[in-house]
Amino acid sequence: MARVVNPSLVKTIRKHGAGRHLDISACFNCGNCTAVCPLAEDSGGFPRRVIRMAQVGMEKELLASEELWRCYACGECTQTCPRQADPAGFMAAARSYAIARYDVTGLAALANRSLLGNLAVFGLFSSIFSALLLSRMAPGNPSLPLFHFLPGEWIHNIGVALFVVVGLSAFFGMASMTWRVWSQQRSGGTSLRLATLPGAFYSAIAEALLHRRFQQCNEDAGATEHAAQPWYVRPWLVHASVMGGFVAMLIATTLDFLIKPIGSAVPPWYPMRILGTVGGLVCLYGLSIVLLRRAQGREHPYKKSAFADWFFPTLLALTVLTGIVCEVIVYLPAPTTFGHMVFFAHVVLAMDVVALLPLTKFAHVLYRTLALTLFAWRHAPAKVTASAQAEA
Ligand code: SF4
Ligand code: SF4
Repeated sequence: MARVVNPSLVKTIRKHGAGRHLDISACFNCGNCTAVCPLAEDSGGFPRRVIRMAQVGMEKELLASEELWRCYACGECTQTCPRQADPAGFMAAARSYAIARYDVTGLAALANRSLLGNLAVFGLFSSIFSALLLSRMAPGNPSLPLFHFLPGEWIHNIGVALFVVVGLSAFFGMASMTWRVWSQQRSGGTSLRLATLPGAFYSAIAEALLHRRFQQCNEDAGATEHAAQPWYVRPWLVHASVMGGFVAMLIATTLDFLIKPIGSAVPPWYPMRILGTVGGLVCLYGLSIVLLRRAQGREHPYKKSAFADWFFPTLLALTVLTGIVCEVIVYLPAPTTFGHMVFFAHVVLAMDVVALLPLTKFAHVLYRTLALTLFAWRHAPAKVTASAQAEA
């Protein structure tokens, strides 16, 4: 069967993320990146194979490649590339391109390709959430408790609708990726057994939570600056802080809405409040280091940044900061107009974060976990039957 190729694939990928800074067409397929990549040993030609797919326009295969998501952006390959083709940067741009292609709304492509597109999507969501909140806001009295100024029940209803829409968007994006991977495997003759799926899912979740391969990536990348850094600023721990803190805040907010009466006051030692506050502080720690490193631009993967690389961490940091201020304001006898403004900003920003989750580079939380599951599933040991044993 004839293979369909896209001759402008590299050009298209370069429009995503910080892709415009790189020249992957300079790659002459020497394999240095595969030789030095700390994560390459269990997957053959990774990352060279993915680069080659882009160079020859194998778009379908690239989008069906779980390997894209196995890279942790340590930058070891970029440091040793003899052609300065920046393979680590290419992998990041290709992931951004894949997020845009998996997304069914078309908003991810807009958000990931340009500053204006990013701001347009952010502006669209912020306007919708602001208009919805303003329609039920009770202004004019600075001593109104926060959840009377913006009725808790109304925030709850918007939140439920938002989770449904975002959940559907994420579901269709992940279904698109699964379909591409599965079709590719099927045409390659690989058969997958349902019985090995739970084990594959478990190993992917364990990896997502514990960052074992990311740690390995940092520890084994002997030639990079990461191996020499103090443990508390190693990239895997910084990444784990952002992700872990975010998940803790998400759990605390969800349980808060589900368990306690909407908008009711709780003491500072209320378990969900403690979980949310600790999660927020841990997340803020990770985000501060990420943003500082981007500003310094000295090490991988922070040397070349696109607006989209700055945007989501900044948005998340502002959401956490306004949330911490609200945590203090909620215990004051009267919130004041300033308190109301911070609370309004916090609710809009938090809704923006959730809405943008499947559209920005933060979507790698979903796609990496899915890719790790599919990869582990594909490589699950085949069942050895009695007849096969007899033949052996
Ligand atoms: S990206 Fe660089 S190191 Fe990797 S195969 Fe190409 S030229 Fe070699
Ligand atoms: S950035 Fe690191 S993990 Fe990713 S391909 Fe390069 S060496 Fe491997």
